[in-house]
Amino acid sequence: MKYKSVKGMDDILPQDVWLWQELESRARKELESSGYVEIRTPILEETAVFIRGIGETTDIVTKEMFTFSDRKERSLTMRPEGTAPIVRSYIEHSLGNISPVLRLYYIGPMFRAERPQKGRSRQFHQIGVEVIGSFSPYADVEVLAQLDKLLKAFGLSGYVIKLNSLGCKSDKLKFTESLKQYLADKINLLCEDCRNRVGKNVLRVLDCKKESCTQAMRGAPNILDNMCLKCARHFEEVKSSLKALGINFQETKNLVRGLDYYTATVFEITHPALGTQDAIGAGGRYDNLIKDMGGECAGAVGYALGLERIILALKGHAARKPDRNVIYIATLGDAARLEGLKISESLKDGLALPNLVVLRDMGEASLKSQMRSADRQNAKVVIILGEDEMKEKKLTIKDMRPGGSQVSVAAELVVEEVRRILC
Ligand SMILES: [Zn+2]
Ligand SMILES: [Zn+2]
Repeated sequence: MKYKSVKGMDDILPQDVWLWQELESRARKELESSGYVEIRTPILEETAVFIRGIGETTDIVTKEMFTFSDRKERSLTMRPEGTAPIVRSYIEHSLGNISPVLRLYYIGPMFRAERPQKGRSRQFHQIGVEVIGSFSPYADVEVLAQLDKLLKAFGLSGYVIKLNSLGCKSDKLKFTESLKQYLADKINLLCEDCRNRVGKNVLRVLDCKKESCTQAMRGAPNILDNMCLKCARHFEEVKSSLKALGINFQETKNLVRGLDYYTATVFEITHPALGTQDAIGAGGRYDNLIKDMGGECAGAVGYALGLERIILALKGHAARKPDRNVIYIATLGDAARLEGLKISESLKDGLALPNLVVLRDMGEASLKSQMRSADRQNAKVVIILGEDEMKEKKLTIKDMRPGGSQVSVAAELVVEEVRRILC
């Protein structure tokens, strides 16, 4: 019997994990320096959180959730996205009391039962932010500016920020009606998916990429023509502020996003390296969600980035494995093995070196094979504790870099000597 991981749920292996850690640590640094605080919600939520939060007729809720009953027949769902659980937590713990405007971020796995394909797996990982407590267009601007900075901190270039506004709830409703009217005599021209969408989620017809549908939508009403003055002003403010900050964006009038909770500003970040499924992240405003889920009325805006997709977009450039300072301790015999453990601790305590890694053998192989291991690990320094060294209470320090030499020193001088070589 040979077991495999569940389809669409991949291991992140030791040889690849450094890139994940690197992106996560850059994100933490970037976001925390702007006052964002991490929140960690559970993987499982009551299914109702997502039905209420994301919307009953959305693709996620109707086709993509991992939902099951627990032993007491309660319906639970593995989170397909981060916003609904955070809003649930925000209301449950009255997080609005901490600060009138709360800046939150999260990093973690999400789950959707989609057909696995390049950059899209069933367990995928997101970095996201939510700013809760402001209706101001400057919250949108701050979030977008922060997002642009974060992508640059990842070393990413060539991405496009696509921007649109859906207007408020009543604007959306008006627009939905005028779209339905427009499509009334064109239903037969649409693809099967879109024919289903007309009744339930007609806005999604706008972002269908199928040729038949884009043809049929030529001449469709414009979302901006259905917008109230307040929403139009909000959108103008967002755009002019982004221009003033020098942040490039593309106004994209058929960008709607597949989640019901978005109102006003919506955006999507695409990257050409990803082909047809080119979104690396998306977000927008959700001013009704907190109230809809039982909280007090609060404006909110956020986004989520897909880590798998960012890694695809980064392939080949900017992501470089950080240089490690590896010291390898090779020992022979039980006494030397114990001494090696002591030396390893004093090196870690005594050397204030970035990316310091002290490796030790289990002391069961020959010195020769330990030297080979040191080489495979790209050790910069090898410390040898063999029979001779133990007898003379000394150790041998070998500088492994090209042209490096070898010295014999007393055990208490080891930190000083290694520092001399590496620093
Ligand atoms: Zn409006
Ligand atoms: Zn379609």
